[in-house]
Amino acid sequence: MLSEQIEKMLSEQIKKEFESAYLYLEIADFYARRGYEGFCNWFHIQAREEQDHAMRFYKYLIANGAAVKFFAIQPSGKNFNNLSQPMEEAFFHEGFVTVSINKIYEQAAIEKDYRTQEFLNWFIHEQLEEEDSTQRMMERLRLIGGNPAGIFQLDCECATRKYENHSKD
Ligand code: MG
Repeated sequence: MLSEQIEKMLSEQIKKEFESAYLYLEIADFYARRGYEGFCNWFHIQAREEQDHAMRFYKYLIANGAAVKFFAIQPSGKNFNNLSQPMEEAFFHEGFVTVSINKIYEQAAIEKDYRTQEFLNWFIHEQLEEEDSTQRMMERLRLIGGNPAGIFQLDCECATRKYENHSKD
């Protein structure tokens, strides 16, 4: 059985994962409106992965006989002034998510809730990948600067990214 505190934190995490999906859809929209179909595709896939993350938490609560709490999902309302700013935002956002998951892990450790710690291990690893991929994209865009050929090439590369289901192992 999960403690009330862990249940609450896991439900809040579902909201954060859906808000991450929302942020990435906002970013995809930013690129789509400027004709960057590859960056748009990259963030569409990123958004789907976030929904998968949310579903993992959702299913875990249900499997434990816990009631899921539903919260309002807010758009970020961010404005971006250049091509690399959304990538920077994605990188910093993933850092925020990592801190949030670490806090649940810490609480599970305090409570000797081994099951939740084991469940969160997948996310601990996933956050490393999320930070790494967004950091690399951010750095590559910075490196390219305003070079149109470089931007075009990276956009074409991002168009080839394929979705992989993250809601199950
Ligand atoms: Mg996530």
